[in-house]
Formats: sequence, structure tokens, C-alpha cells
Amino acid sequence: HKTLWIVNADSGDSYPVAMSDNIIHTHNLGYPRIGEQRELKKATEAFWHGKISPQELEATGRRLRRDHWAKQSAAGIDLIPCNDFSFYDQMLDFSCLIGNVPPRFGWSGDSIDLDTLFLMARGSRGEGHESCTQGCTGGHGAAFACEMTKWFDTNYHYIVPEFRADTQFRLLGSKVFHEFEEAKALGLRAKPVLPGPVTYLSLGKVQDSQHPDFDRWSLLDGLVSVYEQILRRLAAQGAEWVQIDEPVFALDLSPHQRDAVVDAWRRLAAAAPGLKIIVASYFGPLRENLPLFLSLPAQAFHCDFVRAPEELDAVLDHLPQDKILSLGVVDGRNIWKNDFAKSLTLLTAARAKLDARRLWVAPSCSLLHVPVTLASEPALDAQIENWLAFADEKLKEVVTLSALLRGTARSGVLEENQDAIHSRATSRRTHNPEVRARLALVTDGDARRRSPFAQRQLLQQSRLGLPEFPTTTIGSFPQTAEVRSMRARWKKGELTTAEYEVYLENETRACVAFQDEIGLDMPVHGEFERNDMVEYFGEQLDGFLFTANGWVQSYGTRCVKPPVIYGDVSRPAPMTVRWAQFAQSLTPRPMKGMLTGPVTILQWSFVRDDQPRSETTRQIALAIRDEVVDLEAAGIAAIQIDEPAIREGLPLRRADWAQYLDWAVTAFRLSASGVRDDTQIHTHMCYSEFNDIIAAIADMDADVITIETSRSNMELLGAFVDFRYPNEIGPGVYDIHSPRVPSVSEMENLMRKAEAVIPRRNLWVNPDCGLKTRGWPEVKTSLIHMVQTAKKLRATQ
Ligand code: GLN
Ligand code: ZN
Repeated sequence: HKTLWIVNADSGDSYPVAMSDNIIHTHNLGYPRIGEQRELKKATEAFWHGKISPQELEATGRRLRRDHWAKQSAAGIDLIPCNDFSFYDQMLDFSCLIGNVPPRFGWSGDSIDLDTLFLMARGSRGEGHESCTQGCTGGHGAAFACEMTKWFDTNYHYIVPEFRADTQFRLLGSKVFHEFEEAKALGLRAKPVLPGPVTYLSLGKVQDSQHPDFDRWSLLDGLVSVYEQILRRLAAQGAEWVQIDEPVFALDLSPHQRDAVVDAWRRLAAAAPGLKIIVASYFGPLRENLPLFLSLPAQAFHCDFVRAPEELDAVLDHLPQDKILSLGVVDGRNIWKNDFAKSLTLLTAARAKLDARRLWVAPSCSLLHVPVTLASEPALDAQIENWLAFADEKLKEVVTLSALLRGTARSGVLEENQDAIHSRATSRRTHNPEVRARLALVTDGDARRRSPFAQRQLLQQSRLGLPEFPTTTIGSFPQTAEVRSMRARWKKGELTTAEYEVYLENETRACVAFQDEIGLDMPVHGEFERNDMVEYFGEQLDGFLFTANGWVQSYGTRCVKPPVIYGDVSRPAPMTVRWAQFAQSLTPRPMKGMLTGPVTILQWSFVRDDQPRSETTRQIALAIRDEVVDLEAAGIAAIQIDEPAIREGLPLRRADWAQYLDWAVTAFRLSASGVRDDTQIHTHMCYSEFNDIIAAIADMDADVITIETSRSNMELLGAFVDFRYPNEIGPGVYDIHSPRVPSVSEMENLMRKAEAVIPRRNLWVNPDCGLKTRGWPEVKTSLIHMVQTAKKLRATQ
């Protein structure tokens, strides 16, 4: 390697940068953009608030890219990506690159600037997505931001491209070319990364009221023409490799998509002779798509052998002669140290069939989905730290694996690695005999309520004594700046626990008093003591670990710090009983206890990879069950177990759905079924697309489910109606993502629609979701209107 040194102007640190014209053994698919200290988030938000100039924001972007390239180089990665950086999202970047700006943004011109990009992401009032912090996603906000949705089965959200009959793609952006040049100026021949044409068209949405039946695939031809221009230009700039991501290969493909793959790729491959293309698939097995994938006219193929190690033989059989195989063996989706012995089994099997130049070692997918570096975790428990690898450590693993394969690794590295793997596998911290013994005794009956719903409903009615159309909320009340600052001060030790608790008691008292005053039938305590609906529980459960800086981009500038479930989960002590009991003591009305469900806790955490997800979920379910039972014993008559993430856990392939839903629903029921018939179990989900999963939702057998419906005008209640959903249901009557105060008549209209299709005795009146992102003034008026709505509904037959 020729080595070039670059100096970071701010810190004065220098980094070695390797030229990439040597043989390629290793490459990376994408690096986290946010920066070790979330520098990108801070700069972007400062720019939005007018505190820094666009030039300053661009400079931060350049600095981060340079640092990230330098780090990857220094780790010894031979081929390094560019254009994986983004100020918001890579799909949005691509829409801007090809001039696909929806007409409502009133944009016209010859280039697309950052303002236009942020406008698409955030809407004209700048509150598109940032207003929602609770995992509820979608095109909310009155400002018509582009919609946002989950990127495959990750917790990353992309901006959904929009297509219309008159959409015309034109090469208008220049980001990818700039980034390539920028890397070149640092002595790097980087590998530009682009989303593939079939992935881009598949993941977008037709948004054309005049031509609702318009066929998006008619846009393919024009789209591929722009790709041809992009590829030619990159070739002219001196690019040797381009990475084109087609993760749709991990999905069920329609005949349309298959045809599109063939048509598009024939042209891509011929666009710029001399430019080599690596096509990447990740996030799941290829299954029946495997032959099609490996028939693409690319020079190299990347496969995710973390998610599908069983496919290696088939891939090797189908890999055309003289093509390169990139083996994704280091997990880009989780934070565990790689088991070198396992990876080497795969690599050696591949090496037996491929000569060294045809075999690349890589992470399984972009490292966007893991935190940046363990170096930012000074306080981690040393034993557990030795089990972990974040993005920077994963890159080193890729390089070490390649060296081990070639016999050039430092002696002892394999043994050190295996020691760590062994210590995790045998530690009592990961294997708690009591938890396992208890789980072994769980029976099917433990996951079933004692009596059928119809019987429970009568008993609950007489215990709770609620009127028709009972009113309730989803749990949280405004987490004001004051609440958050008090918590921060308590964490820093500036407030004693006693002082902090007095503050929380006062907030709770005021919240309950307000609900009593307006006549809300089933009050909640307000969740003032909670930072986050998963973290709050994870911090009190055994088997969970929290990092200091393990941030991962969720969308735009929003980052999350998922807990790490490293060991067997158990509940050493009650978690919420104190607050529920305190709140209940303040009111004669039935206080609703508030918990997060096992599937949601699993979904929003990094989970252990040494046992099935279903097993980890069952452990969490038992811990939540204990809490439910304790709440009941403390006199709480209604308990809500939130499961907003059940739907997002659905596997990528339909064929795998039934199995997932089976264990997910059973885990929920296991958590909910320890109580008497007259204790009412609620659940909540922040969406309402239930068509596909309504049978499973019914199978959860919650006494009451609250869902989001106001934004769809109750239309999305359809699934419940068609299914004749038997239990009680609270279709959200107003959208909590906006500060707008709903009127009585509009909520009444919505409830009339619901009443027309659902038996009156089964209906509740509540908002769409929790109120934590809202301010008190609008919450108060909205809830007063909501209670008035219920009174009007009761007054008319
Ligand atoms: N109880 C939670 C709250 O109100 C539910 C949030 C959610 O479902 N995302 O904040
Ligand atoms: Zn919700």
C-alpha cells in the first residue's frame, strides 16, 4: 500500500489513507454518517434553526466524510464507499439526483439544493417528521412532507419516492460525483453507492390522484436512462467500481419486478464499459430469487451470509465463472463480536471454489444500522465490552478475517476471538438457570385468559362501572422541557432522588386532577417518570445493557440508542407499581396501568444472536407478566400493554409471517394472561393497517385495543369490521402529531362512522397515540372536546 497522510484541520490528528489500486480483498458497503458524537445531527439542526450557514453545514459534511474514509482506510479496508453519506437519507438523495421532486414543492430549476431536499423531508412548515418521537411514522404533519417508512426490517426510515404519470427523471443532482471527486482529492478511488433501479421503483409510491391506476413500471425506461448517464459520468471521473444496492432481492418479487430486473440490468451493465458493478443484496435469504440475482450482468455479487449462511453452496454453484463474490459475514445489523471460527468456515468453503481475486470479505450490509465505535464507551463493563463490536470494530474484523483466510494474520488473533466467544457462551450473565427453569414450565394455558372475552366483558363492566363510549388516553402526557430537564438534573446528581420524586408526584397529581376535572373516564398517570417506553423498562430489567453513545440513525436527524439485550431477562423488582398505585390513590376512577409489551421491547433493542428472537421475547414476556400481576394485586383494574411494534416485526417474506405472528402473539398473551377475568387488559398500536394481520390481532385477545385511525378518516377501521373483531376497540379520534385542536363535531363525525360499523358497547373514545410530544394548552382543549364528544354520543341512540 502506498500511504498518504491526511490531517484533520480541527483536531490536528492525522490519518493514513491508502490508495485503493491494489488487489481488493475487503470492502465496505456503507459507513454510519452521524459521527461519533452525532456531529451531523447537531450541525443539521443548527442549520434548520438558522444558527449556522449552509456553507458551515457543508463543511461539517466534508469533515465527517473525510474522517470516515480515513478511518476505513486505516482499518485496512481495500475498497471504500462514497455517496453512502447523506444529510438526511440516501433514497431522498437519489430522488434529488434524478430530479424526482413532487410538484407540490413548487420546485423548478437546473439543480437541487439542500433547501429543496430538506423541504421534501420536512414539509414547508418544517415539522414533517421531527414532531413524532414515538415510533409512529408516515406522512404526518400538515406540511405535506414526503412520506417516510421503514427500510426493510431495520429501524431506519427512508423518504418514500413518489411517482406520477407525468414523472420525468432528469440527472439534476451532483452529490455522487462530488463525493467521488472529494475522495479522489484525498488519494482514494472510492466506490460510489447507489440504490438500484428496481429497489428505487419498488420502494416508492404512486401519488397521482388523476391517474391512480398508473403503472410505475412504465417509468423504468426513463429511470434507467438516467442511471446510464450517472454511470458514464462516474466512469469518466475515473471510478473503477460502483455498488448498486438491490435489497429487494430479499423480498417476494412479483413478475413485474422480475421483468424489470432483467430489462434494467441489461442496460446498466452496458452503460459504461470498463466500469465494474457490484450488485448487493442483503437483509435476507435470496431463496427463489437466487438464480435471477446471480444471472445479473454485474462483475461482482454481494450476499448476506449472516442472514442466510445456508445459501453459500447454492450461490457458489450459480456464480458465473470469473465473477467475484463478496461474502457478507460480519453482521451489519447487530453489535456482537464476530465468531471468527464460524465465518472462516464459510470463507474457507468459498475459497475452495474461488481463487483469491474472486473473493471479497465484507460486512453483511451497510454499517448504518450499528453505532460508530466502542471507543466512545468508556464505562462499559469490561467483560461485556469484549463481546461487542460496533462499526469501527466490525471493519477491523473484516480485515482480520481476510488476513486469517490468507494466512497473514497476527498469531493469536483467532484464539483471542474464540476466548471472547466462549466467555459469552458460558457466562452466567447470558445463561441464568432460574429464568430457564421457569420458562421450561410455561404451559399453553399460561398464555390464555381464564374465560372467553364475552364473559370477561360482563365482569369488567360491573367492576369498572364505565359509561358507554368511555374516554381514555394512550398513556403519556406532555413531556415538557421542564420534565426533561428535571430528569437530566437528577441523572447528573444535581437533584436528589427524593427531590426528583416529589417533582414527579406533583406532575402526576396535576395530571390526574386535570383528568378528573374534565370527566375523563379512565385516567392514566401521565408517564412523567419515563424517558422512553423501552429504555424505562430495560433499565429495570436484568439482561439489558445501556451504552453511553451507541446512537443509530432512525431517520433524518433523529437517532436512537437501542438497549442491548445481552443475557437472560428477568425482573428483579416491580417497575411501575409505585406510580400506578400513587396515581390510583388520587382518584376514585379506575386508573389504567401502563406497560410496554414484550415484542416492542425486543424490536427496539439490539438482541442477542445466540438464541432465537422468540426465546428472548418469551423471557421478556414473563417479566412483564410479573408486573401485570403485581399491578393487579395493587388494585389496578385496567392495564395497558403497548405493542406498537408488532407489525414492524413482520418478516420480509410472506412465507415466514405465520410463524412470527404465532410466537409474537403468544408472547403478548403470556404477558397478559396472569390476571383475573375482571381485570381489563388494553393494548395500543400506533397504526391501523391491520388487513394482513387482523386474525393475529384478534388472537391477542386484549379486552380493549386502541389504534390510530383519525388520519384515514376511520377508513382503516375496515379490517376490524370485515373481520367482525369481537373485543372492544378505541379508534383514535384525533391526530396527536400536530398541535391542531380538533373540534367536537369533527370527532363526533368520526365516531359516528365507527358506530355505524362497530357495536356501540364495544367502542372507546381516545386520541391516536400518546401525548408526550404535545404542549399542555392544546392537550387540555383537545381532551375537553373529546370528553364533550363522548357525552354527545351517549346522549343520542
Ligand atoms: N403509552 C405510550 C405513550 O402514550 C404509548 C406510545 C406508543 O405506542 N408509541 O406514550
Ligand atoms: Zn402510539
